[in-house]
Amino acid sequence: MVDAFHSHIRASLADANLQSALDANAERRIKVRQIAFGSLANPQELRRRARLIRMEVITHLESYLEQFVAHASENGIVVHRATDAAEAIKIVLEVALQQDAKLIAKSKTMISEEIGLNHALENHGLRVIETDLGEYIVQLRGEAPSHIITPAVHLRRQDVGKLFEEKLGLPYTEDIGIMTNAARSTLRQVFLDADIGISGVNFGVSETGTLCIVTNEGNGRMVTTLPRTHIALMGIERLLPSMDDLAPMLSLLPRSATGQKLSVYTSLINSPRGANDPDGPQERHLILVDNGRTGVRKSELQEILYCIRCGACLNACPVFREIGGHAYVGRDGEGSAYPGPIGSVVSPALFGQLEFGHLARASSLCGACREACPVDIDLPKLMLKVRAGIGVNQNRKNAKPNAPAILSIGLGFFTVAATSPRRFAFAQWLAGLFGSLATLLAKGDPWMHLPAFSGWGYSKDFPRPATKTFRNRYFTQFKSVLGEHEKLPIQSDPSVSSITKIDIVQNHAEHLLKRFNDELEAVGGKLSICLPGDVWQKILEILQAHNIHAIMAWNETYLPEMLLEKLAEAGVEIIFPTSETIQTSSQVRAGLTGASAAIAETGSILVLGGPGRPLTTSLLPEIHIALLRERDVYEQLCQVLHKEELRQAPAAVLISGPSRTADIEMTLTIGVHGPGELQVICVVDR
Ligand code: SF4
Repeated sequence: MVDAFHSHIRASLADANLQSALDANAERRIKVRQIAFGSLANPQELRRRARLIRMEVITHLESYLEQFVAHASENGIVVHRATDAAEAIKIVLEVALQQDAKLIAKSKTMISEEIGLNHALENHGLRVIETDLGEYIVQLRGEAPSHIITPAVHLRRQDVGKLFEEKLGLPYTEDIGIMTNAARSTLRQVFLDADIGISGVNFGVSETGTLCIVTNEGNGRMVTTLPRTHIALMGIERLLPSMDDLAPMLSLLPRSATGQKLSVYTSLINSPRGANDPDGPQERHLILVDNGRTGVRKSELQEILYCIRCGACLNACPVFREIGGHAYVGRDGEGSAYPGPIGSVVSPALFGQLEFGHLARASSLCGACREACPVDIDLPKLMLKVRAGIGVNQNRKNAKPNAPAILSIGLGFFTVAATSPRRFAFAQWLAGLFGSLATLLAKGDPWMHLPAFSGWGYSKDFPRPATKTFRNRYFTQFKSVLGEHEKLPIQSDPSVSSITKIDIVQNHAEHLLKRFNDELEAVGGKLSICLPGDVWQKILEILQAHNIHAIMAWNETYLPEMLLEKLAEAGVEIIFPTSETIQTSSQVRAGLTGASAAIAETGSILVLGGPGRPLTTSLLPEIHIALLRERDVYEQLCQVLHKEELRQAPAAVLISGPSRTADIEMTLTIGVHGPGELQVICVVDR
C-alpha cells in the first residue's frame, strides 16, 4: 500500500550526506530556539496565551473571517474566496490575464505548494520565479522544498555550487557569499521586471484587515512593494482577532522557526498604493483559500488548524531527522507539501486518509514535537487519531484504522483486554505466567527463542512482564506512601512571591536607548547618537566611508529641517524614488528614511510608507540609514503595534537588522535582497 513511502525512507536512510545535513540543521535550530526562548520572561505563559488565541479564532472562524474580509475590503484590498485549489489557481490566472502579466515574482508561501500553483501557472505560459534563496535553489533543481522553513536543507554547498554553474553560468565555487550574491543580482532584476508579486500571509488581523508577512531576506518586501500587482494567498485559518494578539505570535513564530526575537522584516500591509503614494502596488488581491479547512475544523483533527507553520516540530522530530522532508510521500509517490509531524496530520486531514494517512506512522510518539510547538498542539494525540483512521469524514465510529492487518488484530485484542480492569488484570497475569514458563524452558532470555520476537533484541531488550500487576503493587505499596505525602502541609516559597513583585519596567529614555542599542547590535545594526545640528555630518561621514555620492531619501517633510539642503550643499545627490523611476534609481547605494518608533526588546525600528515616504528607500539600497527620535523608543513590541499611524499607513515594516539568509548549509550571509547594512541615527535633544 505504501511502497513508495517505504522506498523513499530507505533511500533517505542510505544517504549519508542527507543524514549529516539534517542532523546539523536540527541541532543548530534546536539550540538557537532554546536561547531565544530563554530571553522570554515567561515562555510557558506566552505559549498558553498563543494557544488560547488560536483556539478562539478556530472556534469562531466564520465571525473573524467576516470581520477580516469587511476591513480588508474597506482598505481597498480585493478579497476573493477559493473553496479549493482549482478555484484559487483560477483566480490567480484571471488576475494575471487582466494584467497581461508575463513574469511573476514569488516569495515563499506554503499554501502555493499545497495547491500546486507554480506548475499550473507555468502550464499557462507564465514565468514564475521563486525569490527566497532556498526556494530559488530547489526550483532550479526542479524539486519541492524539503523543509517548511529551510527548503534547501538537504543540499550541501557543493550541490549549490554545481547548480549555479550549470543554471546561472557562475564559475564553480564553494563560497556561499559569492553564490548568494549571484542569486541576489539575478533576482534583483526579476523583482524590478515582474508584473505580479505573489506572497503568502503569516497572519491576517481581523480588527484592522491587516496582512502580516515575515521574512528575513527581504524578498517578501520586494514582491509586495515593487510589482504593480500583489496577490496574497492565505489559508482561511491564519487569522488573529486583533493587533494585541499579533504581538505574542510575532514573538513566538521567529523564535520557534529561526531562533530570532523578531524576523528581520515584519511587513504590515493595510492597502494598495494610494493616489499620492510614491510606491507600492496599484492593486492588492487577497485569496482566502479553504481547500478542506472547513472540513478539518468540523473534525476531530480541528486542533491542527492552530498551526502557525514555524517548522519547530520538524527539527524536534527524531524521525524527520533521519528521513528528511522528501520522504513524506503519498500513496501514489507524490510528495506531501507539509512534511514532518505537522505534515503527518495536516496532509491526511486536508487531502485524505487514504492518500496520506500512512505518514502518521512515521513517528515514535516521543512527544518532542508537542514540546517544541509554540501553540502547544498535541501532535502525538492527533497522529494517534490519524493512525486510528479518524479524519475529516471519519469519526471514531466509522474510522478504519490506518495500520497493517496484523497490528489491527493485535490492537483489537489489546482493546478487549484494556477496557475492563478484570480482563486487563487477567491478561497481565497470563503474560507473567507465559514469561515465567518461557524463562524456565529456555533457561535464559526467553523471548529470543520465540520466532515472533527473534531479531527484536538487536538494539533493545524486550521488557519482561511484571510478575505482580501495577494495581496490585499500587494498593500494597505506593498508596501508603502517597497517603503520607498527602498529609504534608503545602508550603509556599517566599522567593516566588517576591520575584513576581519586582517591577521590571523602567521607562526612562537612557535605559531604553541602551537596551535598544544592545539588541540592535545583536542583530547586526549600528546605532549613533547625534544632536539635531550634527545629523547631516553623521550621514555624510557614513556616505564618505563607503565612497557614496548619491542617496535615495524621503521627502523633507519627514526629515529634520534643512537636512537635505545641507547634504546637497556638501555635494550629495538627493533622489526621491517612485515606482515609475525605480528602474533607474535602483542602483543608488544608500537610502535615508525616518523611523517612527524603535523597540528596545528586539532592536527593531518601525518604518512607515505613504505619501513622501517611499518604502523602497529602506529596501533597495545596500545601506539603509534611519533617523530616530529618542522619545520614540519603546520597551515592547505590543506598544508599537498600537500606534495609530501604523494603522493609517498603506504599508509599514518592522526592521530588525540587515537582510540575511542561512539557506545554504545554515551559513549566515548578510545582505541578500535587502540592505546589507542598517545604520540608525538617534537624534537627542539633551
Ligand atoms: S505544528 Fe506547531 S511546531 Fe509544527 S509547524 Fe505548526 S506551529 Fe510549528
